[in-house]
Amino acid sequence: MRRYSVFAIAREALRFHSGWEKAWKSPEPKKNYDVIVIGAGGHGLATAYYLGKNFGITNVAVIEKGWLGGGNTGRNTTIIRSNYLQNSSSAIFEKARSLYETMSQDLNYNVMFSPRGLLMLAQTHHEVRGYKRTVHANQLQGVATQWLSPEQVKELVPIINLHGPRYPILGAHYQARGGTARHDAVAWGYARACSDMGMDIIQNCEVTAVHQAHGQVTGVSTTKGEISCKKLAVVVAGHSGVVAGMAGFRLPVESIALQAMVSEPIKPCLDVVIMANTVHGYISQSDKGELVIGGGTDGFNNYTQRGSFHHVEETLRALVTTFPLISRLKLLRQWGGIVDMTGDRSPIISKTPLGNCFINCGWGTGGFKAIPGSGWAMAELVAKGEPGVLASEFDMWRFKEGRFIDESVAAGVAH
Ligand SMILES: Cc1cc2nc3c(=O)[nH]c(=O)nc-3n(C[C@H](O)[C@H](O)[C@H](O)COP(=O)(O)OP(=O)(O)OC[C@H]3O[C@@H](n4cnc5c(N)ncnc54)[C@H](O)[C@@H]3O)c2cc1C
Repeated sequence: MRRYSVFAIAREALRFHSGWEKAWKSPEPKKNYDVIVIGAGGHGLATAYYLGKNFGITNVAVIEKGWLGGGNTGRNTTIIRSNYLQNSSSAIFEKARSLYETMSQDLNYNVMFSPRGLLMLAQTHHEVRGYKRTVHANQLQGVATQWLSPEQVKELVPIINLHGPRYPILGAHYQARGGTARHDAVAWGYARACSDMGMDIIQNCEVTAVHQAHGQVTGVSTTKGEISCKKLAVVVAGHSGVVAGMAGFRLPVESIALQAMVSEPIKPCLDVVIMANTVHGYISQSDKGELVIGGGTDGFNNYTQRGSFHHVEETLRALVTTFPLISRLKLLRQWGGIVDMTGDRSPIISKTPLGNCFINCGWGTGGFKAIPGSGWAMAELVAKGEPGVLASEFDMWRFKEGRFIDESVAAGVAH
């Protein structure tokens, strides 16, 4: 595969861009693979990438029922942070955040990582206590975060109204190297690198059954035929329960639609990412000028991958006192994705009752930021059959044994 570079752009400009190769191949599936990864979202593609890069395993197929990145990976609001409370969470999210720092160079693909700074607003005294506690925990974990006064918040965010009558700004939990990246580019960059290593990315191919014998997976049925494998990695986010059902086990995961929206593009007015967890809304400005606004989950479990009117009203009502300019904006688009929620709001990277089948799910409303760290940890689990340090506490049996990794104080919501 030809490297992308300034010279490649110049060369192609001279020949009217006629020489670009396809970024990844679209082969028909082979009869068997060493590893099948179900799901070409960021987590599935990153798992495949690190299987190749860290363990030299390249006889891999990534099987996707739609188009790659078309699930939550291409639908999220792209917030990246690692300011979590629990040690196991901050370790995997900080690993991911640090991999984002060099991802464009590693993948030779511009993922537009923008560590513009992230604020989690404290708008109740409960949040002040919770976030200060998390700042202290982050210091012990080696994650650089700090507590900001309301005046420091105003300096960073001139458009903010500090003095809302019901929820004034009492301070903020700030991570200077938090930010955003371009979500599609993350999926596309991993896909290109996987394809370059000889892996097969098979789109428009749904897994419809998982076959097993003697407690081991032997292969899968797909809409493009039967494929056998030595190991199976299930990385399907909101459809984890469905695929686990095919494999004959249950997961402590619920599937719920989470919604977001963007405004019309406006002049630059916000150069940090802001989360307001008490009123529940979060906001950043895209490079195109749109305000990217995230809301909450639907109030009931569902597989409905779209937005709904009442969420627009609820989310904007929540944010408008703090950001009065929102009241004058037109909305451009609204959408939803199906997120996979666990009881403690922490993910699952785990062995399963089937010996050679592994599952990665439960990233819920906050897994975009985790993609590289999750792929790194999942690849280790699949390659070695045992979790490494990063994944060691995220097994699915913690729900049976009461070993919860409770992140409620750190995030309120977990974007
Ligand atoms: C509106 C919204 C906002 C969000 N905001 C943020 C945020 O700001 N920051 C953040 O960190 N996270 C955020 N998230 C969460 C984040 O998007 C997800 O946690 C993350 O993208 C999950 O990635 P994934 O690869 O596990 O899943 P996905 O990208 O959903 O990929 C799973 C893939 O599996 C495929 N699949 C399912 N079943 C099958 C089958 N039977 N056969 C083959 N393929 C199958 C699906 O088609 C899908 O492409 C948000 C999510 C949403 C919906």
